[in-house]
Amino acid sequence: MQIVSSAAAMQRLAKKWQRAGTRIGFVPTMGYLHAGHISLVHEARRRVGKKGRVVVSIFVNPTQFGPKEDLANYPRDLKRDLQLCRAAGVDAVFTPGDAEIYPGRAEGRYSTYVVEETLSLGMEGVSRPTHFRGVTTVVAKLFNLVLPDVAVFGQKDFQQAAVIQRMVADLNFPLKVVVAPTLRESDGLAMSSRNKYLDPEQRAQATILFHALQAVSAAVKKKTVSAAQLQTDLKEFITAAPLARLDYVEFFDPETLAPVAKVKPGTQMALAVFFGKTRLIDNARL
Ligand code: AMP
Repeated sequence: MQIVSSAAAMQRLAKKWQRAGTRIGFVPTMGYLHAGHISLVHEARRRVGKKGRVVVSIFVNPTQFGPKEDLANYPRDLKRDLQLCRAAGVDAVFTPGDAEIYPGRAEGRYSTYVVEETLSLGMEGVSRPTHFRGVTTVVAKLFNLVLPDVAVFGQKDFQQAAVIQRMVADLNFPLKVVVAPTLRESDGLAMSSRNKYLDPEQRAQATILFHALQAVSAAVKKKTVSAAQLQTDLKEFITAAPLARLDYVEFFDPETLAPVAKVKPGTQMALAVFFGKTRLIDNARL
């Protein structure tokens, strides 16, 4: 497994593979890897085959964090990440520093961003106004460096996957975006690097997100319910976890992300919940 930290070296390697006709599968991450990330690696491998190359990037992208968010504290464990990647059969791990990805930014000389202007406005875009600008910018840059044929993203970040798919279509990136299912702990909590922040009490109550998704799924199987009613009901439902504070819950069309008034099977539901400073998200097709 190669470990590449310079942007130029990553692009050289990718170009070499490309010239040889080798398919490249790519999984962008912020590290502190868990089984959810590794499931994306396996999906990338399935897509490019044994003769292909799978690249994982590990980069805690500063531009997708708000000024009051957890950039400085974001969990990091590169040694363990590399072990997990090696065991999963990754060919190259790209571990750039900030100056490789944003040359001159520290000195105020970085000024180009990629902005998606529709799908990124709601939900996470409301709670985290500059988040998706950071995501689309870094992912576009990583695509230019890794030159993937296939890039795999998690359904866990449903809106992110939709924004990336739109960016790829709008900007003619020559690659296929694959969205892979959310891996969960045995009690239903979606795996996330941020789960590490939870204390034992918060961790026990964090299943409330999954339980909310399940409860609404079951309810809409019986009859169509208004989104407004469900939003009211969920505020009440969430009080079963006294440490939880609901940030948002939305019901929307999975293609357009447009909010729906009537919730039925096939509607997408997404929610964000704070436990102290830790913000967890989850979503499901009902
Ligand atoms: P992150 O390191 O949190 O930026 O996530 C990197 C990629 O892994 C993103 O495409 C996420 O959607 C995906 N991911 C995160 N958590 C999970 C999970 N529990 N199951 C599957 N994919 C995930």
